[in-house]
Amino acid sequence: MYIGHVGAALAAKRVRRSIGLLVLLVATYAPDWADTDLCLAGAYNPDGMLSHSIPAVLLLALVGFAAYGAVTRDWTGALVIAAVILSHMFLDWITGYKPTWPGGPMIGLRLYGHPVLDFVAEGIVIFVGAILYGRTLPPRRRPWVDISIMVGALLALQLTIDIAHMLMKSLPKC
Ligand SMILES: [Zn+2]
Repeated sequence: MYIGHVGAALAAKRVRRSIGLLVLLVATYAPDWADTDLCLAGAYNPDGMLSHSIPAVLLLALVGFAAYGAVTRDWTGALVIAAVILSHMFLDWITGYKPTWPGGPMIGLRLYGHPVLDFVAEGIVIFVGAILYGRTLPPRRRPWVDISIMVGALLALQLTIDIAHMLMKSLPKC
């Protein structure tokens, strides 16, 4: 999943308002940041075993939980951070094709091969996340206008990615 992960971050804001949106955005893309780090380190693994397999994501969630809890002493918030990191794995199973564990099967619905379906799936997550997020904002500033603009921008980004998928069979990730 690409931009859909933003939806998970927005939804989490509803669960624990005290967590900064930037922190939630870092958490929601944690496995992809891991990919970026591996890429920069020259150790990129194309199947995502080191970043997207179940043990890898559990480890990332544990690190996120410990880091957020240690810094803020908000252990409920730390649980939310861990859940957001885990959500990356489940959402990627909808759109992608990811390793489970070393020697285990690959799983996922592989919607990237069907860009229209991918856009619908990511769009739903973005939309639901934005609605939940909107309810955390004070009502006086007509937040729904801001939310609509945000949703429009996120959907436009996702559309760009899906069109790129239509034109090229696979997008370079590293
Ligand atoms: Zn990912």
